[in-house]
Amino acid sequence: MLIQKAVRYRLETTPEQENLLARAVGCVRFVWNRALSVQKSYLDHQCGTLNYAGLCDLLTTWRNTEAFGFLAESPSMPQQQTLKNMTRALKDAFDNTSVKKFPKFKKKFVHDSMRYPEPDHIRFDLKPADQDGRHVLPKIFLPKIGWVKFRKSCIIGGEIRNVTVSRAGGHWYVAIQTEKTVADPVRQATTAVGGDRNVADNVLTLSDGTMFLPVTAYRDLQKRLAREQRKLAHKVKFSANWKKQKAKIARLHQRIAATRKTILHQISTIISKNHAVVVLEDLKVQNMTASAKGTVEQPGRNVRQKSGLNKSILDQGWGMLKQMLGYKLQWAGGTLLLVDPAYTSQACASCGAVDAGNRKAAVFRCLHCGHEAHADVNAAQNILARGLAPCEGLQSTAGHAGVACFAA
Ligand SMILES: [Zn+2]
Repeated sequence: MLIQKAVRYRLETTPEQENLLARAVGCVRFVWNRALSVQKSYLDHQCGTLNYAGLCDLLTTWRNTEAFGFLAESPSMPQQQTLKNMTRALKDAFDNTSVKKFPKFKKKFVHDSMRYPEPDHIRFDLKPADQDGRHVLPKIFLPKIGWVKFRKSCIIGGEIRNVTVSRAGGHWYVAIQTEKTVADPVRQATTAVGGDRNVADNVLTLSDGTMFLPVTAYRDLQKRLAREQRKLAHKVKFSANWKKQKAKIARLHQRIAATRKTILHQISTIISKNHAVVVLEDLKVQNMTASAKGTVEQPGRNVRQKSGLNKSILDQGWGMLKQMLGYKLQWAGGTLLLVDPAYTSQACASCGAVDAGNRKAAVFRCLHCGHEAHADVNAAQNILARGLAPCEGLQSTAGHAGVACFAA
């Protein structure tokens, strides 16, 4: 089995290196934006789009001109890579089976990054000590940037495929993607479990009754974020204090994202170690986080409920959790199944009756057979049943008046 892993380390840059990196990612952004406007004008004139080779020719021309000669001072591979990404993004945007949207122009400081696709150009100096025996940080060689120190928080295992340098929250990071072939895993766990994401008080509930509760630290950070954002609103826009506050908020966002990731890693590790099959709802995350307010013609429902939901860990991490569970289960010889989420919270896990009145806040009480359970456990059991009986499917629940049965 082929295992692909990416590890991210923080770079310890000197001010000069920071300058070089900022310029390099700036060039990548410039190439992306300029190439995108070229593609747009091609499309406006109904001339199709330039392919990757065409874009690369264009890049070579730019690098040789006086006006855009600064591009040649930064590494070329990441600039070509961004054109490759654009070719892919345009292909996806015109693919009817894909939900990807038309690529956008990139802004400064928003996902600033560049990828070195060729591992041969990257070198490492992993000596733990210098000549005098003093502890030193390992170094990575990035073309046209030089040797940069990094905090090696875990080992780099496997063959290096590519390296991505990015800026986030005032720091620079390097993500190293590796690949290695290992023996096929022998599945240890034997159980199947369904999971339901919870809106209010816990993160994830499993069909066996396990509940992953929210972490207080996460809640506290969210509260702090709200407080700092209120402070920002009272400052004069673009003043020195406003900028300082803005940077503070950016760092807080970073911390929240890191905390969320850690929590999701912990949850997905526990679940994938203990279960062979995991069934989750196939939620369209974009739909869920889309504004609940709706439009003038179609005002949204459950606005308050949804805005609360938008703050939960899983809201921004659902896709991440699915991804983590997917690969961790695969590494453990297990499987992740995704099922249609319709009516999983209103259906009775015991008799199958669907009724909006079945669910009263945290308690599920079936109006048909009297079955009582924690509402999330009941939903998780429905999700599990649906995952284990995929071929039988469910009967029409259109209008869902009266009783509809799930053939599980
Ligand atoms: Zn029932």
